[in-house]
Amino acid sequence: MSMTPYRGRFAPSPTGPLHPGSLLAALGSWLLARHAGGQWWVRIEDVDPPRTVPGAIDQQLAALTALGLTSDGPIVRQSQRDALYQRALERLLDEGTAFACHCSRSELADQHGIHHHCVARGLRAQPAIRLRVPPGTRIAFHDGLRGEVEQDVHADVGDFVLRRADGYWAYQLAVVVDDGAQSITDVVRGADLLDST
Ligand code: GLU
Repeated sequence: MSMTPYRGRFAPSPTGPLHPGSLLAALGSWLLARHAGGQWWVRIEDVDPPRTVPGAIDQQLAALTALGLTSDGPIVRQSQRDALYQRALERLLDEGTAFACHCSRSELADQHGIHHHCVARGLRAQPAIRLRVPPGTRIAFHDGLRGEVEQDVHADVGDFVLRRADGYWAYQLAVVVDDGAQSITDVVRGADLLDST
């Protein structure tokens, strides 16, 4: 049995009011944290400014408070954590695990949008940064509902984006850096994020 104290989290994107699915994730993660005698933290995932709806953060936090769901830790906002994401990205670039990519979505269409090598016909002013996912990269984890989940990330996902060509952080980078930095031990999220997990 792990000696790490349980710490769960709820990490909504402020794209509007919390919908029933988000509320289910909030309540489910809160219940599991309480059941484990652990902590439950709220994090605001406003990493994608074009999708952030003004007023949604306050609205979401008020909805959680009204349900009695209050964060046991500081409520951080991803929009204020650039330095942390930048450090993680630089480490991956230095290691050679991440690389600049000039491919556009349309250039990758022939590969069904999956990047295995660059096919860019020209250079962009600001390239995206991708994570290199070598052949044979299989990721497995235990999901409380689905059991053992395994994915061939190279075949199914390919080299995925860490920083977008428009300069914004990809959810996949920000969420992993934050879950690590906040010592999150258990994640409850919508089933639509199973592949991303
Ligand atoms: N921010 C994501 C969303 O609202 C959820 C992230 C997560 O649970 O990891 O869809």
